[in-house]
Amino acid sequence: MSDYKLLTPGPLTTTEAVKQEMLKDRCTWDDEYKNVTQVIRKQLLVLAQVDEPDYTAVLMQGSGSFVVESVLTTAISEDDKVLIITNGAYGERMVEMAKVLKLQHVVYSVPYDEQPSSIAIQDLLEKDASITHVAVVHCETTTGILNPIKEIGEVVHSFNKTFIVDAMSSFGGVPMDLSSLHIDFCISSANKCIQGVPGFGFVIAKTNVLEKCKGQARSVALDLYHQWEVMKHDGKWRFTSPTHVVAAFAKALVELDEEGGINARYKRYADNNQILRSRLSVLGFEAYIAEGLQSPIITTFLFPSKEFSFEHFYEEMKKAGFVIYPGKLTDVDTFRIGSIGDIHKEDMLALCEVIENYMVVKNNEN
Ligand SMILES: *Cc1c(COP(=O)(O)O)cnc(C)c1O
Repeated sequence: MSDYKLLTPGPLTTTEAVKQEMLKDRCTWDDEYKNVTQVIRKQLLVLAQVDEPDYTAVLMQGSGSFVVESVLTTAISEDDKVLIITNGAYGERMVEMAKVLKLQHVVYSVPYDEQPSSIAIQDLLEKDASITHVAVVHCETTTGILNPIKEIGEVVHSFNKTFIVDAMSSFGGVPMDLSSLHIDFCISSANKCIQGVPGFGFVIAKTNVLEKCKGQARSVALDLYHQWEVMKHDGKWRFTSPTHVVAAFAKALVELDEEGGINARYKRYADNNQILRSRLSVLGFEAYIAEGLQSPIITTFLFPSKEFSFEHFYEEMKKAGFVIYPGKLTDVDTFRIGSIGDIHKEDMLALCEVIENYMVVKNNEN
């Protein structure tokens, strides 16, 4: 048993049953194991509300960033140009990757507490016909803002460009129909809303778009096309596959289904978030993101006063059984609390009570 619950954006609190799956060693070469991968690939398409053969799922070793980089290097050729939309650290990480990969790119950047505008994107696409791809983060985990991928997807589609979405912290927790969102590459990982453990990520791709990517990757290990080519036949991974993590993920998918699917999970996360926002607001914690733009995934709070010590607060929360997350903003002092993982209403209520008591003690000291 863990000593504390993780109120973080991943790795997050997983169930005992998911952890139990990792107690067995499995052979990568065995048909039964390869079939686990195939079942996962099929199930991911169901979650994305799409079907074979129009869409296909590819799993890739590594943390989420490895998979983002894998998509960028595989999907964007030397002749292509990507428009990267940023309002947080994960969008900026894509820009960093584009620089290292020497991809032709342009950046459309907006403040961290604002959504990108689809009209501005339309403008950029009109002015620069050499742009071939558009990349955006769905839930910017930096702040917890949810970006309007539906509106952006409409624009990208109307210009017939390839649409790449980093849905790392939202896929599985926010309902998404990939086809109506016009997404060509949707990226997520094992340790976020599906509630598995870290070790691999996955891409749900439009098959005819991925098919055109052969030989484009400027990397061997991160070649998504090659990974797909090998995996699509019988579920064999190129190179060592994270067997324990894959088994845990398969169990996590079963549990997601048992919970009632993505809609039920979305509701649980949104309820967690609602409890958190409303109870903390009463205590003087102001949320950084406006309510209408807030995702149910993670919430950024401003420090309630100049005297507030995050280190002390963190330690006290940890003693009470909850691990929270530091902020990721440079201009304002913030901290973050996640509402995803195996976290339920009673956990959120218990956390809020601990915070309430903390603030009473602090206020009495002053
Ligand atoms: C978690 C996350 C990633 C990947 O981060 P890793 O640390 O590489 O797993 C990428 N984008 C977003 C939006 C995320 O939340």
